[in-house]
Amino acid sequence: MTEPTSQPASTVGPLVVHTAEELRRALADAGRVALVPTMGALHEGHRSLMRLARAQADTVVVSIFVNPLQFGPNEDFDRYPRTLDTDTGVCAQEGVDVVFAPTVNTMYPTEQMVTVQAGAMGDRLEGASRPGFFTGVLTVVSKLLHLVGPDLAVFGQKDAQQLAVVRRMVADLNLPVEIVGAPTLRDPDGLATSSRNVYLDADERASALALSRALNAGRDAAADGPEAVRAAAQGVLDEAAKAAPPVELDYLALVDPATFTDVPADFTGEAVLAVAARVGTTRLIDNVPVRLTRS
Ligand code: AMP
Repeated sequence: MTEPTSQPASTVGPLVVHTAEELRRALADAGRVALVPTMGALHEGHRSLMRLARAQADTVVVSIFVNPLQFGPNEDFDRYPRTLDTDTGVCAQEGVDVVFAPTVNTMYPTEQMVTVQAGAMGDRLEGASRPGFFTGVLTVVSKLLHLVGPDLAVFGQKDAQQLAVVRRMVADLNLPVEIVGAPTLRDPDGLATSSRNVYLDADERASALALSRALNAGRDAAADGPEAVRAAAQGVLDEAAKAAPPVELDYLALVDPATFTDVPADFTGEAVLAVAARVGTTRLIDNVPVRLTRS
């Protein structure tokens, strides 16, 4: 047998770069570039974003950066899973060209004095529960967009409010990038895949299934209008609050997907039913699109 002269992309693997200069060199003559921003601990949900990116670009860049600016003082920044070697293997399997894995010092060499604020949209729901979260997200996303200069960037619908504020930033600041939203990927039992699912033990995971059950119950009530949607989901969550371990609800909201304001009782059209809850020490979020045809 003769030696192959070149290996398929899946075994060669991506170029892993850590600095802005290395990134710039890696992206010379890159053609149409897609960026998939992540915090690593890559799972099937991330893979689905990479596949969308791969189908639409010549060069796919995955950024892996656990962004300290978007974590509150009592959140899980220190224990957040960091698995760069495994993640690089995942990127290789998905035909990713470049992994950008900067250090905190590369991204924030000095105190970040100038930040990007989401405005009122960033003060609701996730923003109310996690003060400063969207400032951290928008600031790092705009830095990544400037560093990579992609033609398109892919974000998951799993973080629907994040997707909405990123879209709004791109529109309001005239950023020259197309934002692509990717549907939420779930495990077969309905739990949305998340890097934070590794924190759940078996009993917590069983309780956590109430989130997707509640969202499905809400969506199934769509024909009866917004109040029925909220009530159906709330009913499942009320039961789950009595489970062992309990699901401690943070918020349940039926919102306009573009503004994340509550939809009125007579609303018709496309809405998002979003939930956040704590199970044990793990905070989980999930959402589904809901098409309301009648108030
Ligand atoms: P993260 O690493 O959690 O910051 O997520 C990086 C990107 O992957 C974000 O755009 C998320 O919305 C997206 N993502 C995370 N989980 C899922 C999922 N289950 N399905 C689709 N996209 C996801």
